[in-house]
Amino acid sequence: MSKLKSSETVKVVVRCRPLNRKEAAGVTGTPGGRGGIIEMDVHRGQVVLRNPRALPGEPRKTFTFDSVYDASSRQRDLYDETVRPLIHSVLDGFNGTIFAYGQTGTGKTYTMQGAWLEPERRGVIPNAFEHVFTQISRSAADRQYLVRASYLEIYREEIRDLLDPNVHTPHVPNVHTQPPHTLELRESPESGVYVRDLTSCVCKSVKEIEELMNLGNQVRSVGATDMNEHSSRSHTLFLITVECSQTGPDGRQHIRVGRLNLVDLAGSERQAKTGVHGERLKEAAKINLSLSALGNVISALADGRSGHVPYRDSKLTRLLQDSLGGNAKTVMVATLGPAPQHYEETLTTLRYANRAKNIKNQPRVNEDPKDALLREFQKEIARLRAQLSHKEGRGKHRKEEGEEGWDGEGDEEGEEEVERKLQKERLEEENKAIREDGSLLAVEKQRLLGEKEIMMGDLRKERDTTEQLTAKYKAMESKLLVGGRNIMDHTSEQQKTLETRRQEIAEQSRREREILQQVMVQDEETLELRETFSSLQQEVEAKTKKLKKLYAKLQCVKAEIQDVNDEHVRSRQELEQTQNQLTRELKFKYLIIENFIPPEEKNKIMNRLTLDPEEDQWKLQLLTPSESQMKKRLASAVGYKRPISQYARVALAMGAHSRYRAENILFLELDMSPPTSVSLDHWPSEVRPNCSPSPTDNAPYRERATRVRKSRSWCQAPRAITSSSSSTVSLATHSTATPSTAQ
Ligand code: ADP
Ligand code: MG
Repeated sequence: MSKLKSSETVKVVVRCRPLNRKEAAGVTGTPGGRGGIIEMDVHRGQVVLRNPRALPGEPRKTFTFDSVYDASSRQRDLYDETVRPLIHSVLDGFNGTIFAYGQTGTGKTYTMQGAWLEPERRGVIPNAFEHVFTQISRSAADRQYLVRASYLEIYREEIRDLLDPNVHTPHVPNVHTQPPHTLELRESPESGVYVRDLTSCVCKSVKEIEELMNLGNQVRSVGATDMNEHSSRSHTLFLITVECSQTGPDGRQHIRVGRLNLVDLAGSERQAKTGVHGERLKEAAKINLSLSALGNVISALADGRSGHVPYRDSKLTRLLQDSLGGNAKTVMVATLGPAPQHYEETLTTLRYANRAKNIKNQPRVNEDPKDALLREFQKEIARLRAQLSHKEGRGKHRKEEGEEGWDGEGDEEGEEEVERKLQKERLEEENKAIREDGSLLAVEKQRLLGEKEIMMGDLRKERDTTEQLTAKYKAMESKLLVGGRNIMDHTSEQQKTLETRRQEIAEQSRREREILQQVMVQDEETLELRETFSSLQQEVEAKTKKLKKLYAKLQCVKAEIQDVNDEHVRSRQELEQTQNQLTRELKFKYLIIENFIPPEEKNKIMNRLTLDPEEDQWKLQLLTPSESQMKKRLASAVGYKRPISQYARVALAMGAHSRYRAENILFLELDMSPPTSVSLDHWPSEVRPNCSPSPTDNAPYRERATRVRKSRSWCQAPRAITSSSSSTVSLATHSTATPSTAQ
């Protein structure tokens, strides 16, 4: 495998689904193959699109791709021809991505997942699972593998972990306690763009990885019932990491890491067309944001001239950064619907796909990355093994000391077990002997028995630790898959041969198509060279024919330019609309800020804002003050628990009761004015019994509440203590007011 940085283009294939029943009823009898607007030449890899509203004589649009799959294509065909080579590359240590792009309802999910329970209709993902584990089981015995899987979705520009253990209540499937966590994107020079804290589960078999996928889908399907058509509104990404260690020619272990991204995008249709409003429109705008960012990235990369690629415009493009123009082998499956009413969208998808053909990636083998989990696993296993063998060594040594000449045979574990039993029996015998020995004193007996008990305890403890170690060792080792060991039940030779044949056929037809496409291009170029003219008339005829051909071509290109211009104008109008809406919202918010929020509050909030360069977003700092900002608590007077008021100090000095030691921060002067009394007779009789007077509508009560009128701190007026009567009263007032603080 070459480690050189060679570039290769993104492989683009197009798949058209059959007309569904509703569509078929509407288009019966229309020309164009099976009733749709799409014709496919599978041998040449060409798609011909017919405009249902075309003017007479208007040429059809033709696009050429790496492969095309018509309505009669099977899931297997697409897998064998297009996906299989990519999975092989991933097992060899390359990064690989497959993403399905197209309008809602054109078969993205069908292509990626398909019908799991029907072998013929299983999609790319289940087939890839099976392929990975079959390949591992067939590989050479000197290879060790570690397979991990993660599952996430991007919904409204938020990344959600679909395997989050907090979401899945243990032991109770289908019950979800919380919505999935929102995660952040990070970038490191080692592993590129990654999702921080994303759950990653080690899988040992197809069954385990399928269970993970089901688990993740359950979290999604909750959304589907709550949010209506959720599935087509979020982008999902299933990530499989395959780490493989093998002894290199230098005699050292080398690890290669391949990452496979399986992406099912949200429907690409123009959201304005779907006629949504309010929240739905905002959601649509966010979905569109990711998809239009994807479009911009593809355009920038395909163009090749623009230096800046706007990866940072959306989460999706950042996650796919490696897959588009980076270190990965990428396959894009563009899905089409054949119904005439979707002509515009189909054309947009085809243009998109056509552009993506020009993207160049630089895939390379990821060899010996620092963050390989496999290496950590191997180290841990080696450590546990060493620990175990050390224990065994100790046991043997003891055994040799104790019972010379014992040479038991059998496996090591058995040996150890026998040895432990012998030790235990010996200790028990000794115990018995001590108990029966009449010559020993009772105290001495007790001591000896105690010692023996401790020894037995040690023995038990040691056995437990060894058992724990062995269990841990076995659990860790079982996670590693070793090449050549049969993981799958059905890896018969026959099946293997069948698969190889299928692969060969797929490869053959791929090469055939490539040659056909090359021949077509060359034909056009060399037509002129091959022609010899016997007379001037003949030459004129031939040239006129060619001119006509070229003229038709020119018309095609002109129509294309017109189309692209129209498209441009349309998307520009949509963008302007969105911009107007956003400006309106912004103005509205400014209005609220300026009229209802005091400037100092606004400034406080502004000061809390910081730009997160990683996320490229503004973030509000938390309100919890830092330690340096926190107000220091007042130091208490020496010997007291808390700050003490002036009054309390004076009262203490005067020998007042000790309960006032740290109280009475306020001095409340007694209001000596006579109490206000009101006769209740003039109250309406129905109000009187249960009516609790409210302080706002009851005048007599209000007056009573103002009777304590003056309050003064003792700190400000130490003079007041001279009046013994007032101080006594004030103390009494306070002690009744706060009985709970009395000591
Ligand atoms: P999307 O994910 O693009 O919104 P789906 O994959 O859900 O669309 O497909 C919509 C419907 O079309 C499903 O009922 C699916 O079974 C059917 N379908 C899609 N592609 C094919 C195909 N190639 N052959 C048969 N049925 C298909
Ligand atoms: Mg879908």
